Amino acid sequence: MKEMIVGIDLGTTNSELAVVREDVLQVVPVHGNVIMPSCVGLDLAGKILVGRSARNQMIASPEDTVLSVKRKMGETSKILMGGKEYSPEEISALILLELKKEGEKQLGQPIAKAVITVPAYFDDIRRKATQTAGRLAGLEVVRILNEPTAAAVAYGAGSRGQENLLVYDLGGGTFDVSVVQVEAGVVEVKSSHGDTRLGGDDFDQLLVDYAREEFRKMHHKELAPTPQNLRRLKDIMEKAKCRLSDEPYVRIREEFIDGRNHLELEIERYAYEQMILPLLEKTLECVHQSLSDARLNPGDLHKVMLVGGATRTPLVQNLLRDRLQTDPHFEIDPDLIVAMGAAIQGGVLGGEKQHSVLVDITPHTLSMVAVSDQYGYPRLVCVPILHRNTPLPAAKSEIFQTMVDNQKEVQVAAYQGEEPFPEDNRLIGDFMIENLSRAPAGNPITVHFALDLNGMLKVTAAEKNTGLSKSAVLDTHAAGVIDFEAARRNLKSLIREEEPEGTADRFSSKAESASEAPAERQELLIAAKDLRRRAEALLQKEVAAGDAEEIRKHLQESRQAIEERRWGRLQEINDTLSDLLFYLED
Ligand code: ADP
Ligand code: MG
Repeated sequence: MKEMIVGIDLGTTNSELAVVREDVLQVVPVHGNVIMPSCVGLDLAGKILVGRSARNQMIASPEDTVLSVKRKMGETSKILMGGKEYSPEEISALILLELKKEGEKQLGQPIAKAVITVPAYFDDIRRKATQTAGRLAGLEVVRILNEPTAAAVAYGAGSRGQENLLVYDLGGGTFDVSVVQVEAGVVEVKSSHGDTRLGGDDFDQLLVDYAREEFRKMHHKELAPTPQNLRRLKDIMEKAKCRLSDEPYVRIREEFIDGRNHLELEIERYAYEQMILPLLEKTLECVHQSLSDARLNPGDLHKVMLVGGATRTPLVQNLLRDRLQTDPHFEIDPDLIVAMGAAIQGGVLGGEKQHSVLVDITPHTLSMVAVSDQYGYPRLVCVPILHRNTPLPAAKSEIFQTMVDNQKEVQVAAYQGEEPFPEDNRLIGDFMIENLSRAPAGNPITVHFALDLNGMLKVTAAEKNTGLSKSAVLDTHAAGVIDFEAARRNLKSLIREEEPEGTADRFSSKAESASEAPAERQELLIAAKDLRRRAEALLQKEVAAGDAEEIRKHLQESRQAIEERRWGRLQEINDTLSDLLFYLED
């Protein structure tokens, strides 16, 4: 007999409910949303509010609203709400009860048992407190599960032998990183670090400070720091923050923010990233600490997994990619993954089959081509817009700039692949955006990529200042795949012209015998590519000006030879460049 055991992520900021029933994993919506704020309050009539409604009334009656009760779990201190005292367990029980009641409505059956997750660093007292909260809500807590373990389970850990995983969890008010080891199907937390006072809320606060400064500049006075104003501003800036995860800049216009004056500002992602960078550097220190505690090097990790809403911030992903030299996984919704893992665990305990989460993702990175001068000379590079493993559908944009004054047009080219340079990736399609306004160099152009479940990529480029835009829909699957029959017909007619008696058979034998030359050419190209990498690496270091000049000249010639398909010439350049590099590389 199967028994339903639900999974609950009882978070500091948000809570979620999920379940595996009849082999189907489902995140259960509560009040019409799969994410419920972990917020409890009393309305004017003294009625209990849980979730979004409690959060919404926070502005009006902060003294009747409780947030972040999870921080207090296991403490003996009391929480004041509506003039009455409650224990942290009681407040948590109200959250759990709401999830239970709403879940029962949605699922059409009673919920009696649950797996509830807690941070890996929770001690026994806090785990017991969580269990008590469950009991108070009328739930039998069949297991208290570590959040990083739940995340690992959602990614199907345990099905592939021994694995070292790193779970980076950045929520609203807390940061945790754990190294999780899986061996013979057993998931074990090896080390765990974090900061219980660092999360997305701090990012909101930085943006709030920035907005207040902008307000002051504009109106020559402070925005009155009433709880209402501050709360409203925080909500506005949190929304802006979430948009900055997908958009390169956000414009905000809020009328009568303080009842009288408007708030108007624009913030660029880059400026925002500079604000939060010091906080993220702290999280990276924790990452290295937990790696060294587990006696592992970044290279020993099989997977880095992102958990928590704030990991949607592109800078988080980029820093991890950079420092750990691996692509972090975020294909499972970071808000829901812990509840899903708990539900899978609950399912197994209740007699369901082991499950893992299936998601549609883009298997390749999609980039826009642009000119970069980070190599000491202008060079075409691929700037990723949608990284591989991004769940579908996906939409993101980035800002690019014109290179010269009064530049009239920009080429928009989309590439697929993981390499830094376009010639090593696959062109999906390109177009020109023309008739740009007369503007100095640096005229911002927003490029938007939207990829649907069928692999169709809609690319839109827009001149930020005028709104002039152009778009095209490109098929990512068709990239690089030629129309074989058309190509065959094409070649056939060519062969017939040369040899009128030519037949289809001849055509195929001819194609085969000719295949050796391309192989050699391939080798030549690979050698050229390898030399180019070495040369560019060298240029990034300190090289005498004359030598750098020489290298650049050869690189230029090498590219030209490839473009003009002069293979003999390419061989010569390869040889010279090879000698030169040999002599310069220490
Ligand atoms: P917790 O585990 O503490 O309950 P969550 O995992 O629910 O927290 O994360 C909540 C945080 O994630 C909030 O600060 C929220 O603003 C942030 N967040 C949610 N979506 C995004 C987004 N798209 N970009 C950046 N931050 C986000
Ligand atoms: Mg969480």
